[in-house]
Amino acid sequence: MKLILLGPPGAGKGTQAKRLEERYGIVQISTGDMLRAEVAAGSAIGKEAKAVMEAGQLVSDDILVRMLASRLEQPDAAKGFILDGFPRTVPQARALDRMLQDKGLRLDAVVELKVDDAALTDRIAGRFTCAKCGTGYHDVFKPTAKAGVCDSCGSTEFVRRADDNRETVAARLEAYHQQTAPIIPHYAATGILKTVDGMADIDEVTRQLDRALAGV
Ligand code: ADP
Ligand code: ADP
Ligand code: ZN
Repeated sequence: MKLILLGPPGAGKGTQAKRLEERYGIVQISTGDMLRAEVAAGSAIGKEAKAVMEAGQLVSDDILVRMLASRLEQPDAAKGFILDGFPRTVPQARALDRMLQDKGLRLDAVVELKVDDAALTDRIAGRFTCAKCGTGYHDVFKPTAKAGVCDSCGSTEFVRRADDNRETVAARLEAYHQQTAPIIPHYAATGILKTVDGMADIDEVTRQLDRALAGV
């Protein structure tokens, strides 16, 4: 199964991608996670991306396309993948079409998670992640079962993203509407676009995703 999960920042892409990984035995490819790893490592890409990400803007297509192309070459992508955060612009979508065509691969579905802008700021402002295993949480919508302890691994260390603040969210939402939403008609035209109500609670969104993907 080869999927794209599409939606604005905070829509629930990462949360649902983790569940799809387990359900379908495919890997999540998150370009945001890859870029954050580059920043943490202080690589050339990381140095270029850091300020752009903190401002809530998009990193250049050139960097992203090269990064994704080399990620798709990794053996674990052969069984299938969930693209989370890519493509984010029309040129990225076109580059992905060419990459897949060259490999003789075809996307099975593009799923759009629809969430109102008004809900996204609260989702992003409350987001935190286990520093050890990466499990995602939310202060209100998905707290840890025991305060300060990761449900999955027991770690007591958590991280919040530098760009997850109310000031940056407005820029990220604008980037989504201006640069990313225009790729939706591109996939609608190919007949593989599915839409899921991302306003529902986390488990209900998972059920809707299951239903949307049942026939593909
Ligand atoms: P994205 O990867 O699209 O940016 P995340 O999956 O990281 O979004 O979700 C953003 C935040 O909202 C996280 O803190 C997550 O726990 C929470 N969240 C995810 N899905 C829902 C949902 N359906 N309802 C409420 N909160 C959610
Ligand atoms: P979110 O969870 O809010 O959707 P991501 O983790 O996917 O955010 O991305 C965080 C930041 O990384 C983006 O705001 C952007 O600066 C950069 N980024 C991630 N993916 C891409 C991409 N495909 N093209 C350009 N920039 C990207
Ligand atoms: Zn953990």
